[in-house]
Amino acid sequence: MSSVTLFGGVSEIGGNKILLEDNGTKIFLDFGQSFSHLDEYFAEYLQPRTRFGLRDQFALGLMPQTKGLYNSWAIEKTDISYSEPEYHAVFITHPHYDHLAHIRYLDQKIPIHMGETAKTILRSVNETGKANIFHEKESKTYDGTVIPANDVRTFRTGDKVKVDDIEVIPVHVDHSVPGAYGFIVHTTGGTVCYTGDIRKHGNRPQMTQDFIEKAKENSPDVLIIEGTRVAPTETRKNYSESSVYEKSSEIVQKDEIVLAMRYPKDLDRFRTFYNVARESGKYLVISLKTAHMLQSLKEDGIGLPVPFEDETIRVYKREMKIYKDWEKVWLEKCVDHKWIAENQKKVIWELDFFQLTELIDVKPGAGSCIHSMSEPFEEDPMSQLQDNVMKNWLERFSLEHHQLHASGHASMDEIFEMINEISAKKVIPIHSQYPELFKGENIVIAEKEKKIEIN
Ligand SMILES: [Zn+2]
Repeated sequence: MSSVTLFGGVSEIGGNKILLEDNGTKIFLDFGQSFSHLDEYFAEYLQPRTRFGLRDQFALGLMPQTKGLYNSWAIEKTDISYSEPEYHAVFITHPHYDHLAHIRYLDQKIPIHMGETAKTILRSVNETGKANIFHEKESKTYDGTVIPANDVRTFRTGDKVKVDDIEVIPVHVDHSVPGAYGFIVHTTGGTVCYTGDIRKHGNRPQMTQDFIEKAKENSPDVLIIEGTRVAPTETRKNYSESSVYEKSSEIVQKDEIVLAMRYPKDLDRFRTFYNVARESGKYLVISLKTAHMLQSLKEDGIGLPVPFEDETIRVYKREMKIYKDWEKVWLEKCVDHKWIAENQKKVIWELDFFQLTELIDVKPGAGSCIHSMSEPFEEDPMSQLQDNVMKNWLERFSLEHHQLHASGHASMDEIFEMINEISAKKVIPIHSQYPELFKGENIVIAEKEKKIEIN
């Protein structure tokens, strides 16, 4: 009667798409992009033909080919014809693309549920970037097709969201982006808990503990749990958020410029750098995009500082020929490369890899760069290439490289502890390259697109 089917996240990190079916009601938990499968067929300028909607993804098995799920423009150039929705809701755990990037293809009549903070972050990304993650307003495609606005609904931790007989309870978790949740889902056939992406070593481990306790209380029939770091060996150095803070505090002690590189949506890391700057009496210089995101989050109550109102923060404007409308509003209040050059000994500068050319104008004398992102992946030549390029820039400007990152994911041991603690009847690993490393009688290794009964 009630079942779980994984359409992504099977023996891969990311691409989570979990279908829950209960007496004809169908909901998805997450609707992400599988980057590893995309990379099997596409590289650099070889990319799916967006003008044909989902035709290429369907042909290569990169998206579930099913009716009643997608909007008309996404499938008009495919073999599926448009029909009224047969899926009833999509619930997103957190605003990372490997969990939600495909929501842009959903039928606008299917409600998308996500945390309030997640929506605010994605809105900011929509407004300042090129990609439209969801259609907030009616918009038009390349050929003038009108895309109606998505039905995006927000929840907070502990809410109960009903979809027919299914009840979804989002519970906050700690991950490397704010607005992250796990789900407790009651169906007529039993209870399913899904971790989303989860960790215990961030700024708010209690949130993760809240989820674990809530899951345990509900004696779930099925636990779907992430296993990003479940691997035969862990070669990368992984710190906790607090050790990133401590080590960064040491690095900024010298009277020299410090560059800081982090993932744009990792606002926990932003908070860490902000605290380091404030406590060492330095300025934290951020990009206009980060300023936009922080301004957007002003009302969200997650306690992040507000740029242009905060003594520690300065916002950097690159010298451009044209600025976008949203940037123009703030330009007068921003600092430029001359300001950074003059104040470099007092500056922690969040600089993106793709903007390293700014160093040419600032001409730092000497200093450090805290690379606060994953180390390059051995199996990914592109990340190796970027790493080499970055190191050449740092060497050119006498900037000492420091690798300092706290993962967004719990360690293998922590994942296994969670499994023991929650003690579900069935445990389905997801978002892991090595599901076979999960051991125990209750472990069910999912096959892609194959139904697993909840009870
Ligand atoms: Zn994530």
